[in-house]
Amino acid sequence: MKTYWQNYIDGAWVDGGAGRIDVINPGTGERLAEQALADAGDVDRAVMAARRVHLSGALSDLRPVERGRMVQAMGRYLMDHIDEIAEVLTLEQGKPLWEARIEVEGAARYFEYYGNQAETVEGRSIPLGKGYFDFTTYEPFGVSAQIIPWNYPVEMTARSLSAALATGNACVIKTPELTPLSNAWFASAAEAVGLPKGAVNILCGLGHEAGAALSAHPEVNQIVFTGSVPTGIAIATSAAKNVVPCVLELGGKSAAIVHDDADLDAFENDVRWGIYFNAGQVCSAMSRVIVHDSVHDELVERMVGVAQSLSVKPGIDQPEYGATMGAMVSDAQRDRAAGMIQAAEADGATVATGGRKMNIPGAFLEPTILTGVTPDMAIANDEVFGPVLSVLKFRDDDEAIQIANGTPYGLVGGVFTSDLDRATTAARQIRAGQVFVNEWYAGGVETPFGGYGKSGYGREKGREALWNYVQTKNVAIKLKG
Ligand code: NAD
Repeated sequence: MKTYWQNYIDGAWVDGGAGRIDVINPGTGERLAEQALADAGDVDRAVMAARRVHLSGALSDLRPVERGRMVQAMGRYLMDHIDEIAEVLTLEQGKPLWEARIEVEGAARYFEYYGNQAETVEGRSIPLGKGYFDFTTYEPFGVSAQIIPWNYPVEMTARSLSAALATGNACVIKTPELTPLSNAWFASAAEAVGLPKGAVNILCGLGHEAGAALSAHPEVNQIVFTGSVPTGIAIATSAAKNVVPCVLELGGKSAAIVHDDADLDAFENDVRWGIYFNAGQVCSAMSRVIVHDSVHDELVERMVGVAQSLSVKPGIDQPEYGATMGAMVSDAQRDRAAGMIQAAEADGATVATGGRKMNIPGAFLEPTILTGVTPDMAIANDEVFGPVLSVLKFRDDDEAIQIANGTPYGLVGGVFTSDLDRATTAARQIRAGQVFVNEWYAGGVETPFGGYGKSGYGREKGREALWNYVQTKNVAIKLKG
């Protein structure tokens, strides 16, 4: 594997004005490679290159189907290189190799979906009476800045980049400091499919330096951010100062409500995916289970069984789909999660299983289940971003909804029951951008995703996301006759 990775600005691989950063393999704790670090000057060059492409019309003047074909081809390029990308992703991020392959497939799917959508962004004609002809068009904003988190670096970049390119924007991507390497393939994909130089710029830099410079750049026209609430607030503040729109996707403390008539066999699978996929470092993780008193003990026993069935080891040693979990992204994230478990115990919660750092090299935490959690505890409200599930009890439906809605977040929620009335009532009452009924993560690239409350605003995925990247223009024509 390459030992030094550069940034990609205006069609060229370049060093960083801020030097280099070590990228650590969290599965071993050892240094994996060095990554160039961009400074504000590099950010400026990337933004100005993107702006030049935008003003030239090289993207925005194309017939949409032509852009769409290039976007689709980027997805195929990723699939053609899935083995290399997945390996690097696993080594830098910690996830099992089979999960990394799912992530690359998911990324490719975004390019397929938004490539297909490119020619469906159509305006309308508005009747104004005999003397006028009026129509609307959707135009790209211009330069789209996208600031990417470390948990799904490939999929998150794909999510915004595909929709932004399909609608004719030029892009500057700020990759995460912890997991920058796998983003390099987006640059080579852009080259391979014939996008103009400067249409896609990929650079890594520190958040408070390159990230802040990008979000405050006066020639950026639109910003997409996924990450923590404080950083989201900083970015939204910068965007407001330049009067540009932003989309914020800021995590959550999402709850599954499990009723006494739920299919508990099926729910075991929801636990496996909901909280242990990507070692729980998922913004829409099922980090709380709110279970009816009458099935609490049985469900806890089953969930403990799921947690204990997982074999936890370096992602690179997990090529095949199975009951496995990898490292967390870094020692710091692992230690933070372990500290939150300890604090929860001090608050009166019980560790039903797991709870400790593992005594092997790398950023490993045992799959953990906490019982006896009450809504007032910090662990019931704060995002752990790790393989830690909090279990709370309820006695009636209203109480379940009240607990589910009791945090400042509102990204997703779930209800598990065989009663259709109960499910639809809960779906209406849960304050979240997405509600899963009887399957956590039901949905896909096609379904809109985004938060209520502190989980952010704007929607990614689905048709909705296209409108993040375009602005409406109305053309009113006075006719002679
Ligand atoms: P973060 O929000 O600080 O970082 C996310 C991205 O923002 C990175 O690319 C970072 O470089 C950049 N950034 C940081 N400061 C910036 C600034 N001032 N201006 C512009 N960009 C900036 O998140 P983190 O420190 O990597 O993780 C902390 C917590 O955030 C996690 O524990 C988790 O709770 C949450 N998180 C959520 C998601 C999600 O998908 N919602 C993803 C990653 C992290």
